Amino acid sequence: MPKNKKVNEATYQSVKGMHDIIGDDFYLYQGFAERAAEVAIYYGFKPIETPMLEKEELFLRGVGEVTDIAQKEMYTLKTRGGDRLALRPEGTAGVMRSYLEHGMHSLPQPLMFYYFGPFFRHENPQAGRYRQFYQFGLEVLGTKKSVADAMIIMMLKTILEDAGINNLQIDLNSIGDADCRGNFRRELVNYYKKHLRDICADCRERLKDNPLRVLDCKNEKCQPIKAGAPESISYLCSGCKEHFKEVLEYLDTMKVEYRLNPALVRGLDYYTRTVFELSMVTESELGEKSQSLALGGGGRYDYLAKTLGSKKDVPAVGASLGVDRVITAPGYEKFTPRIIKKPKVYFIQLSPEAKMKSFEVIETLRYAKIPIVHAMAKDSLGAQLAQAEKLKVPFAIILGQKEALEGTVIVRNMDSHSQDTVKIAKLGEYLKGLK
Ligand code: AMP
Repeated sequence: MPKNKKVNEATYQSVKGMHDIIGDDFYLYQGFAERAAEVAIYYGFKPIETPMLEKEELFLRGVGEVTDIAQKEMYTLKTRGGDRLALRPEGTAGVMRSYLEHGMHSLPQPLMFYYFGPFFRHENPQAGRYRQFYQFGLEVLGTKKSVADAMIIMMLKTILEDAGINNLQIDLNSIGDADCRGNFRRELVNYYKKHLRDICADCRERLKDNPLRVLDCKNEKCQPIKAGAPESISYLCSGCKEHFKEVLEYLDTMKVEYRLNPALVRGLDYYTRTVFELSMVTESELGEKSQSLALGGGGRYDYLAKTLGSKKDVPAVGASLGVDRVITAPGYEKFTPRIIKKPKVYFIQLSPEAKMKSFEVIETLRYAKIPIVHAMAKDSLGAQLAQAEKLKVPFAIILGQKEALEGTVIVRNMDSHSQDTVKIAKLGEYLKGLK
């Protein structure tokens, strides 16, 4: 065994929590992204792609310095010129940065964007949790209107249900705005302070830095305290109350079922008013306990623009779906990307001469827009025909040495097994004439 084997293994091992997406797996992502984009385009959304690297400060300010994402999970780097950059841990801050940078407030409002791409968080990898993961996101910028919140929630539901994902649960809450959140936060801190001995150490820290996060705590010890905690909706000012009521009314009208969840705050600083999460209720392997798989979430972020230095507020709402989880969720219906066509022809080549000639055949078929499939790596006729049978392709084209020399191919009907010899130059026309 070579001495440096260990070194080599480590070198060709991908980074923990990050993985290659190869062949048909890639098409799973691409197929879903296409279908989700189709829904977004129906609703008038336009695509946006922001860079994967942004200034670290964008996320520190936008997402909030005392959040898990900013404190523990960001991949940051210092360039040779001394700039501090971060791999984007989420999509909203970049989209808002782009809106502000390009002065989009002077365009007719609201602006509606969709995006798909990789995001990076240094979390502990486990099933369904990666360090490079993929999100499909929607953002509506430049409107306070509650209908935008409801539309985003409904669109996420539509996208997921179209993809065969049922048993969806939509959790909803309003965490208020600058007028009323202070009161709620004070009451929450007062309440938790009375129970300091009964809560976990993390929650004691959260109380100091980011008190709303105590409601996110999953620690068993904190659950009874959490159950008796004050609820943000009891502290909403009249503006927030009205806004939330309208969101609920729109959802009721659109027959979108939801569950009011007072413990839902979501971890990021930029949220105001509406926050929501979509999850799928699945059965455990033993079919006993139901488990909840978080597929997406979002909310309103009316103050993000000012936090990033804008003079004007840009009220906005958005959401993202975790694509890695969606495409592996039970019931997910695989969408084939548009570039993949159902093959009409299985192309078989049988000799070195034929292999050279095969490019001419492939070009002829491509020009005639006839979708094909082939196995360049397989050599035996039997193996290739068996593959064609398996794929239920209606025709096979066989190119052997003799045909290669004559500039012809054999076209075989896979059903009747009848065969014709056809000139390569005439192949497109011939195949188009077949049913
Ligand atoms: P968030 O931006 O945290 O609200 O995440 C939105 C959705 O992205 C979640 O509901 C998950 O489905 C997905 N997601 C978040 N973090 C990860 C991760 N580390 N790995 C895979 N999916 C993730």
